[in-house]
Amino acid sequence: MHVGHWFGNVENMLRLQEEHECFYFIADWHMLTTHFDRTAELPGFTRELVLDLLAAGIDPERVTLYRQSDVKEVAEMTLLLGMITPLGWLERVPTYKERLRDNAERDIANLGLLGYPLLQTVDIAIVKGELVPVGEDQVPHLELSREVVRRFNRLYGDVLVEPQPLLSETPLISGTDGRKMSKSLDNVLDVRDEEDKVRATIRSFITDPRKVRRGDPGRPEICPIFTLHERFSPDILEWTEANCRTGELGCVDCKTNLADRVVEFYRPFRERREELEHRAGLADEVLAAGAAKVRPVVEETMKAVRDAMHLS
Ligand code: SF4
Repeated sequence: MHVGHWFGNVENMLRLQEEHECFYFIADWHMLTTHFDRTAELPGFTRELVLDLLAAGIDPERVTLYRQSDVKEVAEMTLLLGMITPLGWLERVPTYKERLRDNAERDIANLGLLGYPLLQTVDIAIVKGELVPVGEDQVPHLELSREVVRRFNRLYGDVLVEPQPLLSETPLISGTDGRKMSKSLDNVLDVRDEEDKVRATIRSFITDPRKVRRGDPGRPEICPIFTLHERFSPDILEWTEANCRTGELGCVDCKTNLADRVVEFYRPFRERREELEHRAGLADEVLAAGAAKVRPVVEETMKAVRDAMHLS
């Protein structure tokens, strides 16, 4: 889990578990859309993510936390909804082209990647999701989900719940190279990293290219380090901005200030994560309980879908 996930997803998940009945899942099938050649990593990835979420404060007693591939009906429903989803709807979702562009050196232009938004539609519809937390950039995905659900209901009767967006703040967190922080771009600041690694990663971030040395005026508005200060450094934010602009603050010191705060911010998370790491079998137990909890909801949805399509 990296800092982009933390502020883009985890903080919303923590808030929403206090306010709503929530279904959270580990999207291991989604991972296949771009990492179909690295399936051996899936079990470890899943376990790590479950422990990350627990350490961050996601409460499996309060939410339903399950693994997508434990719900085989997701595949069945994706096939059924695929029959009524025009290709053009999928092709116009901007993230398809973005993913191809970001992975230009790999051949990932496959049906799975194109159908990613449809799989997301099923993830929502199969648990009768009413509200979906989305950032502005994900609105086109959800719009597609709403269109598919409406089309299904027009063809087969009022069976599926049309989800509504719950617009959430998903700040754009830049990675070490200034592009959006993303594991696939290998530019992340990982929340699990030990202090030395955090400091080294922060030192490796690009900054304003015009600010070569202390004394040169900088432009915090284009600097990835400053976007992180906005999250981690409320105590020195104004000071950082002002002293960057005048040039009095050098990038080396600015990065050290940030690293001090990032290390402190994630200290409780890392300590809890360490504790959980020693509880053998915990992730599997949580996922088994989550699968059992989601099953009745899924079975009810699928029965209604099969009945409506005369497939039962
Ligand atoms: S002083 Fe800080 S905010 Fe300004 S350019 Fe350097 S790293 Fe970025």
